[in-house]
Amino acid sequence: MVRQATFASRKEWNPLRITHDNREFLRVSTDALSSFDPATGELVALVETSTLEDVNIAISRAIEGLNRSGWRNDGALRARVLFRWAERMRTNMDTLAELLTREQGKTLAQARGEVLSSISMIEFNSGQARAIFGRAIALKEGVHGVVLREPVGVVAAITPWNYPLNLTIRAVAPALATGNAVIVKPASATPAIVVHALELLALDAEFPPGILSVVIGSGATVGEHLVVHEGVDMIAFTGDSTTGINVMKKAADGLKKVSLELGGKSPNIDFADANLEKALDGAENAIFSAAGQICTAGSRLLVEASIYEEFVDRLAARASELRVGDGLDPQTQMGPLISASHKQTVLNYIEIGKSDGVVISGGEDLGHAPFDKGHFVAPTIVSGLSMNSRLLTEEVFGPVLAVQSFDSEEEALSLANGTEFGLACGLWTSNLDRAWRMGRGIEAGTIWINTYHHFYGETEVGGFKHSGVGRQQGIEGLLEFTETKHLNFDSNNNLW
Ligand code: NDP
Repeated sequence: MVRQATFASRKEWNPLRITHDNREFLRVSTDALSSFDPATGELVALVETSTLEDVNIAISRAIEGLNRSGWRNDGALRARVLFRWAERMRTNMDTLAELLTREQGKTLAQARGEVLSSISMIEFNSGQARAIFGRAIALKEGVHGVVLREPVGVVAAITPWNYPLNLTIRAVAPALATGNAVIVKPASATPAIVVHALELLALDAEFPPGILSVVIGSGATVGEHLVVHEGVDMIAFTGDSTTGINVMKKAADGLKKVSLELGGKSPNIDFADANLEKALDGAENAIFSAAGQICTAGSRLLVEASIYEEFVDRLAARASELRVGDGLDPQTQMGPLISASHKQTVLNYIEIGKSDGVVISGGEDLGHAPFDKGHFVAPTIVSGLSMNSRLLTEEVFGPVLAVQSFDSEEEALSLANGTEFGLACGLWTSNLDRAWRMGRGIEAGTIWINTYHHFYGETEVGGFKHSGVGRQQGIEGLLEFTETKHLNFDSNNNLW
């Protein structure tokens, strides 16, 4: 049983036609790709795509932009440009959020949250743009070392469809703050929202030409061309782990810097001493928010045996109460999956759940009216999985939760660390000592204690193991986009 939100009468939508005309930053010149509303199948946008020659032009313009403008050396200019971009994003909040919901499917409330956190990310990096400090040290008599942070050069940001705005801006804002030029290749499923948001940056009168370009097209052609092109110095990639590994291999031929933010199979761990009501809220948010299409989704729930039955029953009851439907309907709590093929992938995992365990909530393909034009599945919970089930180790990227019980901290830790991923983890307990012990033992880049899915521009995110290389956000994320240079001054030769 699934509670459905209504597909309330929608405003008429005129599909956007996005071309190079009047958009110097958008390097496209050939056939258009279409993006569709995952809730209704409606055409959202037709976006012209880039030839490999367009990509070459974007790269030449980026190099020229860096060489001809003062961008790389003028932190105050970069701060002003970024700050005004954040302001324009705020002014355009409603338009951005609606377009995001239409193109990606998440609820309007989640879309507004994504726009707001993107703005916050820009603001943080705008502040940092004036504070890319180096260090100076007296090394010995008459010898001084000055260590500077310089921009890497031309950065290619290749980004996914699930948080298209946030994950693009998470790379673009620090790359620009540190004085680089950026070429963005958004996911083919969600190009319009990315172009729209970056246009608000590109139109800034002080922003030098060439420093930002957007190229559109498939990962296999346009994306790969960026990865191997000798004019690109760094790849900031967010996406699937297998794609990330390929990107890293290809980038290795050019010895390029890479930053990889990849997949996860994050555990959310509930101890019997937790506040159960809050922990239930957390578990629900961890897996069903954005229909589970979040890299950090808490897709494995580990519950201490003494509260297992009560906790799982209550969570299953909540899951069946979630209102599934059109993200534009304010009643909706969970929207669709991004595409028919992704829905099929998720349904295949649900089948694995049925054969390796017991589906205790959901499990349905919502292929019937009123869901039939979109890509909906029910919020699903599976328990009793055999230990070798793929549902316990592989990323589903959908609203499918695998639950397990544990008897001790040691067992919880061993289950939590038992996959190839290490992106995030949730811990619910009122015992501070335990929180420290578990927090130190978990192999993951982010550990939320008595909370889940909260991100801040100030704090780093990234993965252990197959979840990534390098960090994004925070100061470390910012400095990923820099090279360190040591200038060594020797006054002992009396040459000045
Ligand atoms: P993909 O890896 O399929 O695609 C990501 C981006 O890479 C897209 O722009 C895609 O283009 C492009 N791409 C695909 N193949 C290549 C290639 N050979 N060379 C260069 N670029 C390529 O991931 P999804 O878009 O499906 O996103 C979902 C995945 O992203 C999940 O695994 C999720 O966990 C992960 N993710 C990780 C996050 C993190 O911070 N760790 C955050 C969000 C998502 P195109 O769209 O044209 O295929």
